[in-house]
Amino acid sequence: EHIANQIAAGEVVERPASVVKELLENAVDAGATKIEVAVEEGGLLRIRVKDNGSGIEPDDLETAFYRHATSKITHGRDLFQITSLGFRGEALPSIAAVSKVEVLTASGDDGRGRRIVIEGGKLCTHEDAASPQGTEFVVKELFYNTPARLKYMKTIQTELGHISDVLYRMAMSHPYISFTLRHNENTLLQTLGNGDLLQVVAAIYGTSAAKAMLPIEGENLDYKISGLISLPEWTRANRAGMSTIVNGRYIRNYGLNQAILKAYHTLLPINRFPLVVLQLEMHPSLVDVNVHPAKLEVRFSKEAELYEFVETTLRGILRQEVL
Ligand code: ADP
Ligand code: MG
Repeated sequence: EHIANQIAAGEVVERPASVVKELLENAVDAGATKIEVAVEEGGLLRIRVKDNGSGIEPDDLETAFYRHATSKITHGRDLFQITSLGFRGEALPSIAAVSKVEVLTASGDDGRGRRIVIEGGKLCTHEDAASPQGTEFVVKELFYNTPARLKYMKTIQTELGHISDVLYRMAMSHPYISFTLRHNENTLLQTLGNGDLLQVVAAIYGTSAAKAMLPIEGENLDYKISGLISLPEWTRANRAGMSTIVNGRYIRNYGLNQAILKAYHTLLPINRFPLVVLQLEMHPSLVDVNVHPAKLEVRFSKEAELYEFVETTLRGILRQEVL
């Protein structure tokens, strides 16, 4: 069991940013409206994620660290109708196998909670403790017991860059959740959680970027599309500013990016790329999120129709504005 956890950890926990991603996904799944992340030394020394979500029931706290102890799938067929972000039950045991984890959680608002400490997969403390409703994870000294892996970590700036990317994606995918990112003593991101995607874009890319954004809107029987796309005032030399979100999940899909670029480049400079946040909503059966363990890659069941819809919707919006 212990070895299995370390092996699984190798797949789930590649670097500090992977820990942040898993903890953020759990906080979102727990219905949090406010999530604070604070990291030290690029997350290698300490990662803290605090949410105001449902909390973990006292009896479930220890079990949450067993492999495949997900509370999110109750029937086999649920695998085909996934709406929550996490569903494999591998994150917590994996993280706990290669770090020192402390969790403080309460599932009610009477101040009574539980605290658990697990180091290198071994349970050290499990006790009653005062806690506001929600959950706070502290992950210390990642890879302290796997020196070979620790050696592969890049500079603090590089690890921090990956963590910021994770926060940006989460914030863009969830404009109704307030996210904060702090590194050492500096606040790097603060979103309000009031549903305003433009505020999120301003917090990530700056206010002048936000001023160049045009709203995206469209709908047909299968798909609902929304988001923001930049006009020529704010284009970039690469695709790094292109974000696609499907049912609240940040994803990467080549065809979708191509559809956006086809629409963009018929009207705007061919060698520049837009800043774009494209949000798609569709029935879960139209998208397969189980393609890749990192859950970034997805497959669409009617992809040609989807790409066509995205392209024509964007072209219509851009044409109106540019001509
Ligand atoms: P998964 O997310 O795939 O279910 P995890 O290992 O990430 O698996 O988490 C295990 C379980 O622990 C979750 O199913 C959930 O019940 C519980 N859990 C983890 N983090 C939180 C949180 N922040 N708030 C509430 N419950 C949580
Ligand atoms: Mg999870």
